[in-house]
Amino acid sequence: MFYLLILLLQMKLIKQITDLNKAIHKENDLGFIPTMGCLHKGHEFLIKESQKLCKKTLVSIFVNPTQFNNKEDYKTYPRNLSKDLKLLRNLRVDFLYLPSVDQIYRNKNLTKITLKKSQKILCAKYRKGHFEGVLDVLNRFIKLISPKMMFMGEKDYQQYFLTRNFFSKKYKTKVCSCRTIRDLNGAALSSRNKLLKKDDLKTSGQIANKLIRLKRSIYKKNAIANINNKQYKEIIKKTRENLTKKFNIRIEYIECRNLHTLSTNVKNKPFKIFMSYYLNNIRLIDNF
Ligand code: AMP
Repeated sequence: MFYLLILLLQMKLIKQITDLNKAIHKENDLGFIPTMGCLHKGHEFLIKESQKLCKKTLVSIFVNPTQFNNKEDYKTYPRNLSKDLKLLRNLRVDFLYLPSVDQIYRNKNLTKITLKKSQKILCAKYRKGHFEGVLDVLNRFIKLISPKMMFMGEKDYQQYFLTRNFFSKKYKTKVCSCRTIRDLNGAALSSRNKLLKKDDLKTSGQIANKLIRLKRSIYKKNAIANINNKQYKEIIKKTRENLTKKFNIRIEYIECRNLHTLSTNVKNKPFKIFMSYYLNNIRLIDNF
């Protein structure tokens, strides 16, 4: 009896679509967290949110080849399944879905996802085909899993923003965002941090702290004397120059964008500062 109970409470590890259907077809209160593995406290936070709000939680680990615009990046993306399994078991996750590339892409009949011209901003501008790959794979996952809620991190705000806009009318699944979890030094946790040297990790923390302070100072300035869109751009341009010089980094983009629309109209509107940069050839993104 005791062993049966332990077996029932154990996380179910699922690789085949048929087994997935069997395991979850009766679950109507399911929280879903799609990940690419190499899990950290950011993923852990999403899982805990799901466990608070949903009866059962399903995590997927799938390094999706179609969202990588660079083959080398796909090959070297950090992976650590044995550590991930331990973490997910400790967290008492109900289901782990670990599909193969063939399983996910065997349905060839799905309509192709394209972005509008106005959506090709920030990461979409610099990583051609990236979000099309992300949205396509999420579409496949949602079709297979039909979760009540899907949890995504603000760390990848543009990804969350596009996902919510693409799927909110198409499916009943509610797309929920969770705040960015940071290292003690301020750097956003990311699987890619595993590729950084110790000094680079320190630098990424210093950059994050500078931008957190910059955002505060912009809010203050705006409270004293209303800043217009052009002034926002000037502040950001100066920051770009300073950061490049001080940290010897290659900044891909740094922009202030409206929180609700991602447009550049930020005057008297809630906004975020979005940034993508290369630290010794490792591409990092963050927003503040
Ligand atoms: P990934 O495994 O990098 O594809 O991320 C899976 C999910 O975890 C995405 O929704 C990310 O936005 C989220 N995530 C990644 N890093 C963090 C973080 N530091 N804080 C909160 N969520 C995160």
